[in-house]
Amino acid sequence: MQIPAWMQENVSIAPYTSMQVGGPVRFLVKIESTERLVQALAFAEERKLKSLILGGGSNLVIADDGFAGVVMHMQTKGIQNEDTGEDVLVLVHAGEVMDDVCAAACRSGLSGIECLSGIPGLAGAGPIQNIGAYGQELADVIDWVEVWDREDRACITLARDACRFSYRDSLFKQSQRYVVLRFQLRLCRKNRGCLSYRDVKRYFDDQKNESPTPVQVRNAVLTIRRQKSMVLDVTDPYSRGCGSFFTNPIVETQIADQVDSNHSDQMPRYLQKDGRVKLSAAWLIEHAGFPRGTEFGNVGLSPKHALAIINYGSAKTVDVLNAAAKIRNGVHQHFGIVLEPEPVLVGCRLPD
Ligand SMILES: Cc1cc2nc3c(=O)[nH]c(=O)nc-3n(C[C@H](O)[C@H](O)[C@H](O)COP(=O)(O)OP(=O)(O)OC[C@H]3O[C@@H](n4cnc5c(N)ncnc54)[C@H](O)[C@@H]3O)c2cc1C
Repeated sequence: MQIPAWMQENVSIAPYTSMQVGGPVRFLVKIESTERLVQALAFAEERKLKSLILGGGSNLVIADDGFAGVVMHMQTKGIQNEDTGEDVLVLVHAGEVMDDVCAAACRSGLSGIECLSGIPGLAGAGPIQNIGAYGQELADVIDWVEVWDREDRACITLARDACRFSYRDSLFKQSQRYVVLRFQLRLCRKNRGCLSYRDVKRYFDDQKNESPTPVQVRNAVLTIRRQKSMVLDVTDPYSRGCGSFFTNPIVETQIADQVDSNHSDQMPRYLQKDGRVKLSAAWLIEHAGFPRGTEFGNVGLSPKHALAIINYGSAKTVDVLNAAAKIRNGVHQHFGIVLEPEPVLVGCRLPD
């Protein structure tokens, strides 16, 4: 098979992921322009190979067998601000590091994404699972997303409502049809950061600061995240994971009441707009008998965060999946609630 010069063959994917697991991929391409993306997709299609878009690999678990297709590593760069007077429109290209986008916005005194500081990965993956933390979600500030539509082979722009954003979900997570190329954020020139989350509010209450700037909120969020090993740091072995391995389940009130009634310990519950209740997956895991620090051979739950499954160094994908299945099954047996994995599993699934 004739291989273009811009394509690498038989590349180990583990170093490209924060969990550091996964076998070899057949082809890897750096995507520095839309033209290169279109070429790489055509290469895959002509040879009937699957394709996979890769950002920072912080929400991906790839099978030990690897991926027998073309992996497209997004590297398109650019952040441009346009001041409209009241708001600032920020155009972000998919290959930017998401935390650099947050840092630049905070430095410019812009509010809207300061609480997303420290989330690993590239900007293009942000809309995929509608990243969120500490009281903010990307969907709150997105105007539109420009994507490459693989079916129609065209660039199209989807307004926020068409993106079907919800908690850790979107049209893009549901369908492989779209590749995110860039998006526009509408940020606020209000020199005051968001304090809607308890931990962040407490941080500033302790400092007697009622009106912190976006930079101050960013720094507080980074401090809180570091305490939980929720920023990627090569010197911190507890950050060698995918962050939260399970999403928080959203259930009917009766189910939440049932779970609650069986425990003396107060269960955190967050009422949703549709009347259902979001439960804490971390609480369910800990109360199903998996305390922080629980070890399953060469993987385990982080001692600092019950939702983070950590690779202690020599784990394979199968080890991660087996541990995740034990936790999911334990929570199901204890509470009758099925936890859903948050990372995207490629070529693999949790065993029964
Ligand atoms: C320590 C740690 C803490 C974390 N904390 C949080 C948190 O607080 N909140 C949160 O929401 N997430 C969190 N995460 C999860 C993760 O960082 C986010 O989901 C992030 O957006 C993933 O970005 P990425 O570039 O690494 O995506 P990848 O892992 O490379 O890809 C994830 C998925 O998105 C797809 N994808 C990536 N880029 C594109 C694109 N341009 N177009 C189409 N599809 C694409 C991939 O194919 C894959 O399906 C955390 C992860 C870690 C390791």
